[in-house]
Amino acid sequence: MTTRSPARSECGADDQLSEFVYLDHAATTPLTAEAAAAVGDALRLFGNPSSRHTLGQAARDALDEARAQVAALVGGADDEVVFTGGGSEAINLALRGTFAARRGTGHLVTTAIEHAAGLECAAALRRNGVDVSIVAPEPGGHVDPARIAAAMRADTVLVSVMHANNETGAIQPVDEITELVHAAGALMHVDAVQTAGKLPLDALGADMVSVSAHKFGGPKGVGALRLAAHHRVEPLICGGGQEAGRRAGTENLPGVRGMAAAAAAALPRLRDPRHREHQWRLRTRLLRHFDVLDGVRVHATNPVMAETISVAFDHVRGDTLADVLDLNGVCVSTGSACHAGRDDPSHVLTAMGVGADQARATLRFSAGPATTEDDIDVAGRATVAAVRQLRRVSGTAPRLQEAIRAG
Ligand code: PLP
Repeated sequence: MTTRSPARSECGADDQLSEFVYLDHAATTPLTAEAAAAVGDALRLFGNPSSRHTLGQAARDALDEARAQVAALVGGADDEVVFTGGGSEAINLALRGTFAARRGTGHLVTTAIEHAAGLECAAALRRNGVDVSIVAPEPGGHVDPARIAAAMRADTVLVSVMHANNETGAIQPVDEITELVHAAGALMHVDAVQTAGKLPLDALGADMVSVSAHKFGGPKGVGALRLAAHHRVEPLICGGGQEAGRRAGTENLPGVRGMAAAAAAALPRLRDPRHREHQWRLRTRLLRHFDVLDGVRVHATNPVMAETISVAFDHVRGDTLADVLDLNGVCVSTGSACHAGRDDPSHVLTAMGVGADQARATLRFSAGPATTEDDIDVAGRATVAAVRQLRRVSGTAPRLQEAIRAG
């Protein structure tokens, strides 16, 4: 196992991070020191933000301040931020809430590479009578705006497209799509769960934008939907009218404060070109390690998130490779974390036209703000060694079986 320096910027995760090279930030990120402190402080701020008394108002002030900090990350006015129980819930509120407000009528356009949260919402809407069109990506992992335009109809209510794909990192042309959607009089939702804290969101012209705290250094189980003032959704959770009637339930103040602190810590990085350059240097460095191997294919073409690399190593099972790397102290995934453990090839790669064998031979490396060049070298060297080892085994196994059969 690789032992590393415990001097990390993340807090509470230091012990674990000192043991591992963590390159699975697309699945989740370590809690930042700022977020951990904010969660701890808010746990002691026990008043109910809906109470009139001083303790309730202290909690209300903390909630309002957090809303302003999250609004600064996602763009939009403070009262356009609806706190949710994570990215999946934000997406559900955007898609199902929009159609519920229209009694389930109309047409939804989305893409074949959305996260399961988006695709399963589309499937549920279809079961309830909404017409749904699913647009396939191009082989490089991007959705062509012309295909979205071709799928739209006179009764299209909503188009939902992710900002960057969680498996391949491919950045989608959401600005161009939003423009054509608005020109046709429809609404636009962007799943920005993978880009929040990494790419600026304030210029997104979409009517709805979903984010999730645990992807940018905040706690799990808390997220937000940026919901334009002109658009009304039917709440998924009915009750006491919190979040201006858009999401009932006493607010998760520790979670929301943690998300806001992570957002405030991420904002300066967005404006710092050195941070972006660092991420591109890491990407190039990791790919350079793989130059010594044959049969390596990076799935997405540009534009991509520097942080996320989806790569197939021919003749190797991605899940086996990930297990070998784990034994060597390197954490990566085969694809989307929520699909881990399933043998069916990734729906994203399949939609891009990648064959089942190549899809199963795929690993996803995803770096974070604290990833160093040393981390990349450890991961790169371990991957090359593991791929060589596994290819030797997969090369000898058929010969062994043949020898056994031949007696
Ligand atoms: N959308 C994308 C693109 C994601 O990557 C994820 C999480 O992996 C989600 C939505 C769901 O977010 P959450 O885990 O907060 O429910």
